[in-house]
Amino acid sequence: MAETANAPMAISDEVAIQIQSMNKWFGSFHVLRDIDLTVYRGERIVIAGPSGSGKSTLIRCINALEEHQKGSITVDGTLLSSDIKNIDTIRSEVGMVFQHFNLFPHLTILENCTLAPIWVRKTPKREAEETAMHFLEKVKIPEQANKYPGQLSGGQQQRVAIARSLCMKPRIMLFDEPTSALDPEMIKEVLDTMVSLAEDGMTMICVTHEMGFARQVAHRVIFMDAGQIVEQNEPEEFFNNPQNERTKLFLSQIL
Ligand code: ADP
Ligand code: MG
Repeated sequence: MAETANAPMAISDEVAIQIQSMNKWFGSFHVLRDIDLTVYRGERIVIAGPSGSGKSTLIRCINALEEHQKGSITVDGTLLSSDIKNIDTIRSEVGMVFQHFNLFPHLTILENCTLAPIWVRKTPKREAEETAMHFLEKVKIPEQANKYPGQLSGGQQQRVAIARSLCMKPRIMLFDEPTSALDPEMIKEVLDTMVSLAEDGMTMICVTHEMGFARQVAHRVIFMDAGQIVEQNEPEEFFNNPQNERTKLFLSQIL
């Protein structure tokens, strides 16, 4: 692990994401409560918290996969509203990787990576393929380009999912438990890919229970419980000196 990954100077004072007094309900269920969060360009945030605390919902709100009902979310200066035009702008800036890789099974790895650039971005096919190969090399599986997802291991498929996201040239990457569906021996290869993205200076929000990754890569760890951000701190302080009782309980269960 390069020492640079934790260097504070990697963070700019330019705001990448600003969330203010954001609230969300599913019907009458108040799932996110008064979320305030400012993420700076180049910053890497790990979100931890018990199952059902609203972690996925929060990051899904950031790229408008879920709608919020109160407060505001601004991504790269674009206010996220119900205006479909803004949603498209934000989605083109924000890549997302899910627990289940969601690759298209009937398309090759290369085609999975070029589909959106060609059809959404109107990138010429040859250029899209060159970009795809560049990112497949970055995630260290260029030799799998002509195979189908079903022929790859889970760890390889997740690395394809990361490469596919990168092909859209996002400025921000959101990860929702990208390793929790993987066998233990495959977790490291995916985390290594994420570390390498971190070293490139990508702005990242990662929901993960990989606390080793959080210590190594995060500038800030955010702890959520019952729809609220209850504590946040730099990793050393967060792990060694948690303040909130719910954080202490959570850490005692997972560490
Ligand atoms: P986490 O990712 O922290 O496990 P989620 O954001 O997935 O939590 O879910 C937070 C809460 O919202 C949970 O109680 C969950 O059951 C509920 N929830 C999530 N998605 C929906 C939905 N589409 N409709 C209704 N409730 C939902
Ligand atoms: Mg979740």
